[in-house]
Amino acid sequence: MCKRFSNRLIIACRLGEGVRSASAALDTPHHNGREPMSLDTPTLYLVATMVAALLGAMLLFFGRQENIPALKWWGMAYLLGAASIALCTLARDSLGDLLLLALNATGFVACGMVWNASRVFHGRKPNLPGLVLGALGWIAAVMTLAPDASAMRMTIGAGIVAVYAALTARELWSERRRTLQKRWPTVVVPVLHGFVLMLPILLANFLRPHDDAFGSSAWVTVFSIELVLYAVGTVFVIFMLVSERTVTAHKTAASMDPLTGMFNRRGFAEACSRVIEREANAGRPVTALIFDIDHFKSVNDRFGHAAGDEILKLFAAVVINSLRMSDLSGRIGGEEFAALLPCSLEEAVVAAERVREAFADSGIVVEDGPVDTTVSIGVAGGPAGTELEVLLAAADTALYQAKRGGRNRVEAAEELPLSLENWRRKTAGVARQSTQRPGFARLA
Ligand code: GH3
Ligand code: MG
Ligand code: MG
Repeated sequence: MCKRFSNRLIIACRLGEGVRSASAALDTPHHNGREPMSLDTPTLYLVATMVAALLGAMLLFFGRQENIPALKWWGMAYLLGAASIALCTLARDSLGDLLLLALNATGFVACGMVWNASRVFHGRKPNLPGLVLGALGWIAAVMTLAPDASAMRMTIGAGIVAVYAALTARELWSERRRTLQKRWPTVVVPVLHGFVLMLPILLANFLRPHDDAFGSSAWVTVFSIELVLYAVGTVFVIFMLVSERTVTAHKTAASMDPLTGMFNRRGFAEACSRVIEREANAGRPVTALIFDIDHFKSVNDRFGHAAGDEILKLFAAVVINSLRMSDLSGRIGGEEFAALLPCSLEEAVVAAERVREAFADSGIVVEDGPVDTTVSIGVAGGPAGTELEVLLAAADTALYQAKRGGRNRVEAAEELPLSLENWRRKTAGVARQSTQRPGFARLA
């Protein structure tokens, strides 16, 4: 990503050594008598710098507004890079060697910041030694190399930027499995940029090792145009990633219960429909459980709503810890929870007993002393493909029996739920027969 700056840095470090002659070759009439090139390279670079600065300000603004630290890193990187390049370009003649070196080093720090922005974006800590290593490497190279080894400096500078770009691309690629198709620009943009940057150096090194001007001449213009495209392309990628993340966050928030961190009713239903379909394809049964904490209103009344919330959280933890990874669970109402187990009714009853016992034994203590809480559970299983609504309706009836039976117990539905389609057909036909409960057929 940071290569856009390096292009300029490389040019900057070569200014006064020979690149000016390369630029001049592009700006003045060619010896073959053709028209001079109409693109003025320093102007192009300044435009590119201004575009980068503008984009940097924009990223910083959005980063602050939306409180996205990665955008702030990216914005600062753009601004820092643009500032160092602008100063190098505008005041290169009046700047001392040391100041020019410091400005170039700042540009490399900007490259490191882009890499760190992508780390921060993925929730990792910024790598501070890595941030300044490129700049230190550059300073060391300039100090140790002979003053006329400009080609070597150019290669080292491009190499440092290429390493940062590769690290950035790797960081952005790291979550590729989630959205493989949408992620390709995150890698294509920096890799393409790296290619444009490295190609002239490779060509110069391998094809024309003794011709210094070859590596920079024609590419000076290409770099400056590519710089603008890259700065814009990168911001496109950044906003694509941010918007993708925001959509995912909103989707997740819409299907989660903030108190317990479990699925809410909507998220639970969505997740269940996928599991039911998968199990139906394999011809396997599924079983639904409904949990209702006993006398919860009195817990609230005696110990307060905050203590009630703590008990809800504890119960959620008991459910998650007592069930298998492959089981789904969620909070479907105030103190009502549900689970879907891809197993038979008998196995699910054992799991339900495990939850009931674990909750009864949890020994909850609030400020005012111990709280005896128990849970009643209704369980209903169905053949492959039984709809969630039907299973929950049957489990709810079983739960009602558990409450009537004295609470703190597990009851399994005695009747086999019909498929939703059959249920609707049947209930339409027997609507007048009040003795028959909807949703069930007597087991033969
Ligand atoms: P039962 O044994 O018959 O289930 O009795 P119950 O008191 O648990 O049932 P009821 O439906 O009468 O009361 C449910 C209570 O759950 C009422 C409500 O105040 C409480 N509740 C619902 N949502 C929340 C919540 O988010 N936090 C807290 N603390 N309480 C809640
Ligand atoms: Mg209830
Ligand atoms: Mg209750």
